[in-house]
Amino acid sequence: MGLNKKSVDDINVKGLRVLCRCDFNVPLKDGKITDENRLVAALPTIKKLIADGGKVILCSHLGKVKTEEDYTTKTLAPVAARLSELLGQEVKFAADREVVGPNARAAVEAMKDGDVILLENTRFRKEETKCGEEFSKDLASICDVFVNDAFGTAHRAHCSNVGVASLVDTAVVGYLMQKEIDFLGNAVENPVRPFVAILGGAKVADKLNVISNLLEKCDTLIIGGGMAYTFLKAKGYEIGHSLVDETKIDYCKEMMEKAEKLGKKLLLPVDSVMVDAFPNPIDAEIPTYVYDADVMAADKEACDIGPKTIELYADAVKTAKTVVWNGPMGVFENPILAAGTKAVAAALAETDATTIIGGGDSAAAVNQLGYGDKMSHISTGGGASLEFLEGKELPGVAAANDK
Ligand code: AMP
Repeated sequence: MGLNKKSVDDINVKGLRVLCRCDFNVPLKDGKITDENRLVAALPTIKKLIADGGKVILCSHLGKVKTEEDYTTKTLAPVAARLSELLGQEVKFAADREVVGPNARAAVEAMKDGDVILLENTRFRKEETKCGEEFSKDLASICDVFVNDAFGTAHRAHCSNVGVASLVDTAVVGYLMQKEIDFLGNAVENPVRPFVAILGGAKVADKLNVISNLLEKCDTLIIGGGMAYTFLKAKGYEIGHSLVDETKIDYCKEMMEKAEKLGKKLLLPVDSVMVDAFPNPIDAEIPTYVYDADVMAADKEACDIGPKTIELYADAVKTAKTVVWNGPMGVFENPILAAGTKAVAAALAETDATTIIGGGDSAAAVNQLGYGDKMSHISTGGGASLEFLEGKELPGVAAANDK
């Protein structure tokens, strides 16, 4: 995948209309933003474009737009208000149900260099998620340059990230996007070795291509979480009623053979924390039992990696120079079953290796434990980072001009 993309540092936007696709998909409660991390994260690129004298037109999606009510509750108006405060200058909100409508066009027309406006939720246009031509053309008609700084949607080809990029001469990436490409791209394509990849989460089926691709790229692949038990079953072990994907047993065998052939280490749990039944509610206080992998209880379910496995996995991380982690080691929503996930987070926090967290649950776990600033990079896009790890070309990245 060509990852050497032009960024906002490679262009001169003085006097130009710059459409900047951000990720302002923030949680809202009664019209109030409850977590503004994504707004704060977008500021460096926006400030750079302002400082360079561009006419900065921001756009983003916000949630899914399905019902009539969504046109009221999923407006980006609160984001414009908060961004104005964060930037210390007015961010004019272009309230147009058709996103690029009379209000937006008039607002763009009236812009001076260094001004900022925000368009309405791009998903107010039905064509957005289908990369429809009309909306892509509308967006292209109000800008000279396109900047994509929304990694979370980079694995999707929508009007506001891919359609518009194909219709303008200059399409580059912003700082956030650049950081994701640098860390995830380098880790997969050009890692400092030893490179250890840690995969967890519920299902093997969700991560088939990630497992296969990472096995080729890494030196050690560590498997934890629910998906580990399909591997253990493939090894012929009793796994009780642990999570298993019967249709993927042959696949797991294939992966174990592939690891052997390639001379890669594939680490699986050597012991697990089992419960009588999956906790209900998920955080219920229930008794737990530790079993070695080769003698697991037939009437129990494994819901976390055990203490010996924690030691084994932490040891593998200690000598690594690059670590990528995606997916929890157990049912971490329950504190009794969170020890494995916590231990992996702690091991990553302690190592000197470049540590990359692939979004989603592992990112949440790392942040909850207060290790956020100890990681080299926490990806902002769960789905997008997984597709990166699969070695797929992301349409949102591919659409930017090469250097
Ligand atoms: P994923 O969305 O694939 O990353 O999976 C995350 C989910 O996997 C979390 O909700 C965990 O509770 C769940 N999970 C992790 N380990 C296990 C396990 N051993 N058994 C059942 N579910 C698990």
